[in-house]
Amino acid sequence: LLQREVVSLHVGQAGVQVGSACWELYCLEHGIAPDGQLCWTVQDDTFNAFFSETGGGKCVPRAIVADLEPTCIDEIRTGAYRSLFHPSQLVSGKEDAASNFARGFYTVGREMVELVLERIRVLTEDCSALQVRPSSPVQPTYSDERFPPPVSLALMGFAVSVRERQGEEESALRNKWAGCPVSSWARGLYPGCSPWVVRVSPGCPQGVTHCVAQGFLLFRAYGGGTGSGFATLLLERLMEDYSKTSKLEFAVFPAPQISPVIVEPYNAVLCTHGSLEIEDCCFVMDNEAVYDICDRHLDVPRPTYTNLNRLLGQVVSAVTASLRFEGCLNVDLVEFQTNLVPYPRLHFPLITYAPFVSAGKAYHEALSVGQLTSACFEPANQMVRCSPVDGKYMACCLLYRGDVTPTDVNSAVQAIKSKRSIRFVDWCPTGFKIGINYQPPTTVPGADLAPVIRAVTMLSNSTAIRVAWEKLNRKFDLMHRKRAFIHWYVGEGMEEGEFQDAREDLAALEQDYAAVEE
Ligand code: GDP
Repeated sequence: LLQREVVSLHVGQAGVQVGSACWELYCLEHGIAPDGQLCWTVQDDTFNAFFSETGGGKCVPRAIVADLEPTCIDEIRTGAYRSLFHPSQLVSGKEDAASNFARGFYTVGREMVELVLERIRVLTEDCSALQVRPSSPVQPTYSDERFPPPVSLALMGFAVSVRERQGEEESALRNKWAGCPVSSWARGLYPGCSPWVVRVSPGCPQGVTHCVAQGFLLFRAYGGGTGSGFATLLLERLMEDYSKTSKLEFAVFPAPQISPVIVEPYNAVLCTHGSLEIEDCCFVMDNEAVYDICDRHLDVPRPTYTNLNRLLGQVVSAVTASLRFEGCLNVDLVEFQTNLVPYPRLHFPLITYAPFVSAGKAYHEALSVGQLTSACFEPANQMVRCSPVDGKYMACCLLYRGDVTPTDVNSAVQAIKSKRSIRFVDWCPTGFKIGINYQPPTTVPGADLAPVIRAVTMLSNSTAIRVAWEKLNRKFDLMHRKRAFIHWYVGEGMEEGEFQDAREDLAALEQDYAAVEE
């Protein structure tokens, strides 16, 4: 079984807090207690995609939680899940980004980026996915020009020692070999390989295994300073060692009515510009849309971040379920991307979830697969406010959970296809990618959502999401025209021209969507 390890990166206040809600839910779903102990014997080890197991049977999230200031991370350090994470996974600085992209990207963030990268490196080394085994064991010889003698011998010595002397000595060894050209050796052999992911593979004593995670899942908000600036810097640096590793993202989109940050449009535009060419896929979640769902569907009149985050956690869990559970039709991370992203820049799928049933209505009759599927085409169930009937679909994935059969799904999809209001772009057949997971959704105690026996999440790449960019760009222009607040950015080492470049890039993004629609 090919493992599909995924390393989650939670950056900035929103990234950290949404992350906490996700890990609380993942733990419940996999029967893992807040201290990381497994509560029941698992049938398969698919959950290893998200958790690593230590010798003592403890499950540790494959996650790095990082913020430039300590408040949110201190809450984890002192909260119920404090021993779930290893202290080295929780990285906080002392000085925040003051909601300023430039502080996160250029000044304060720069000081912390090496530390966070190092912690990420340690986690990715613990992954076994994407193993590349040479067809025959590597036999370093002096005549083989790929392996200059001192390096090859050094590498073999290093790899064997690490395997034999696992544990704390590993980092000492790593330090010892830091600076030696092992990385160039490894890269020559396996382009894209990061310096410290070379190991002797079991059963192939002289072979070399290339171990990296299948993907990164970044969680952040576009509107703050850390999520926008620092996380963009981090993505940039990750490209150096993990250029081939998928980078997916769950991003909280600016929502002026909820956000306390005035310069959100600046941060979001700068951040989108900085990340557009790096990340492979970004699931946008707009707080206003989520707020409305809590308010209207879940009878939570004035939802707090805790309410919003639990809902987001449920949605993230649904999107990632196929990576964490065995299923009859599993859609994995790479497949998501392949299906959803026809052009690299247009990588912002819309998430729609159903059903939203409030905890108070728990005992109502369950919705049928057909009802759930058509609910996915209701704008009220979307994580971003936009109107898909005004746009066209480029791709559509439906991920079912719980008591669902392929036959039910087929007839539901046929019914949807016959609806005129659902328009696909001409060049794309109206193909729906289907995923089924028999594990029903779980809810955390006290959640606003009722437990249900089945649910569906739709990931669709629709040109309708263009309106979100249009709105953002308009707000950016209003301030930028007056050159309001620019000095805060320039004062942190940013050039004024970057605003213009970023804005032009987003104008191009809008046009890309328009071009696809035509
Ligand atoms: P950063 O720490 O500098 O990246 O700043 P934030 O993460 O606080 O980013 C500000 C944006 O994130 C605003 O749009 C806030 O409304 C939103 N935000 C902050 N905290 C949370 C949270 O816990 N949940 C959600 N859903 N949004 C949040």
